[in-house]
Amino acid sequence: MTMTVAIVGRPNVGKSTLFNRLVGKRLALVDDRPGVTRDRREGEARLGHLSFRVIDTAGLEEAKAESLEGRMRAQTEAAIDDADVLLFLIDARAGLTPTDRAFAELARRSGKHTILVANKSEGRDAVAGALDAYALGLGDPVELSAEHGEGMGELVRALVQCF
Ligand code: GDP
Ligand code: MG
Repeated sequence: MTMTVAIVGRPNVGKSTLFNRLVGKRLALVDDRPGVTRDRREGEARLGHLSFRVIDTAGLEEAKAESLEGRMRAQTEAAIDDADVLLFLIDARAGLTPTDRAFAELARRSGKHTILVANKSEGRDAVAGALDAYALGLGDPVELSAEHGEGMGELVRALVQCF
């Protein structure tokens, strides 16, 4: 049976960039503006010798802050429900935000296997954020650069433990 992996986290951490790298097609919309992916996207991921179904999350439409957050949350919760494994992304350059902590709480409460991913970890300025990530209580972060394709081997190793 195919495993389903959901990529979750607050807007702009690089979820769609990772999704595109895993799926190898431009199925998800990536933009410099935070959270432009409007709808949930799914694809068949290939990573090393693994293949699995992957869900990109966090459709964020223009709306008032409250309803916007509510929609993001509902979409993320639905994807988490469908998933066997969560890739929980944070931005290693930005450090942790309260929104990261809120999404982490959703992941924790779900009881699903969760792999903490410190994205944007290329270069030296990422180190502080990666250390910060331990505070989430989701274990050791996989340090990744979805944009540059660094750390994908470590991601394979983390996923293999869950499959
Ligand atoms: P999403 O909102 O979580 O789906 O984030 P996106 O995938 O749309 O990416 C948001 C921004 O972060 C875009 O400008 C990406 O180019 C950038 N980004 C994504 N991954 C990386 C990375 O590994 N390193 C750096 N430096 N930027 C990244
Ligand atoms: Mg996106």
